[in-house]
Amino acid sequence: MDKIIEINNLTKNYGNHRGVTDVSLCVNKGDVFGFLGPNGAGKSTTIRSMLGLINFTQGEIRICGMDVRKKHREILQRIGYMPSECWFYQGTTVLEILKMSAAARQIQCDEYRNFLCEKLNLDVSRKISELSLGNRKKVSVVCAMQHRPELLIFDEPTSGLDPLIQKNFFELIYSAVDDGATCLLSTHVLSEVRTNCNRVAIMKEGKVLCTDTVENLTRANSKRIKGLVDGESVDYLFSGDYQKLFSELSTHDISDISIEEPSMEEIFMHYYGGK
Ligand code: ADP
Repeated sequence: MDKIIEINNLTKNYGNHRGVTDVSLCVNKGDVFGFLGPNGAGKSTTIRSMLGLINFTQGEIRICGMDVRKKHREILQRIGYMPSECWFYQGTTVLEILKMSAAARQIQCDEYRNFLCEKLNLDVSRKISELSLGNRKKVSVVCAMQHRPELLIFDEPTSGLDPLIQKNFFELIYSAVDDGATCLLSTHVLSEVRTNCNRVAIMKEGKVLCTDTVENLTRANSKRIKGLVDGESVDYLFSGDYQKLFSELSTHDISDISIEEPSMEEIFMHYYGGK
């Protein structure tokens, strides 16, 4: 199996502050790999290290078999990267930015660019300075995808995109992957990984807690139940037969109830049998 991203024992310190510690992970060709963790977990630091945007303290990163420290330019040619924050020259139009981005790569991609803009409902005649966050994100998605890179890296891509556009965005990713690309998707939204990724690494406090298939990770399929039952507040993790849960609940006086996704750490503990 082709390894597109290989990270071995990556450590990055920002002065005395922790960035990431001893991170290892592997992304295979054709993966839509979820990089999941709360804010501050170390996802962006890992991604920036992969792109050679920051010097890391220790470890080794190989992209498409090449060492990031030695083959920086060659690697960047194969990547499409969407950063978590997207800022562009204010005086320009969307089309000018997209063309500039393609020209920097010396690539002609008008047809695919038009297709991407249509799918994302992005008006290319608009001025960058007039765009909402969601529309700036769309510009950033097109910049990352229009040259059809082998490796797509998206850092928190969907915040600010409305649900229909999110759906179209993931369809674009699946179709790129069908055509041979690989995708790394950083997010703090568990349901996004569940629905769209085949493998996942969970990060917390600068470390990778686990790497597994999404199928394995969600097998336990537990939910957090919170509510006010018989005058008492309840808060617990449930997994099992929902019919039984509802029959049991129906015998009680319920003044409030919510069924939520458990936290990533809870899923991890549930699945791996920790406390
Ligand atoms: P995430 O992308 O998962 O939100 P980050 O990689 O941005 O996490 O952050 C990981 C840790 O590194 C956090 O503790 C954050 O405060 C720290 N960090 C990130 N960037 C810098 C920086 N430029 N200078 C100092 N600390 C940083």
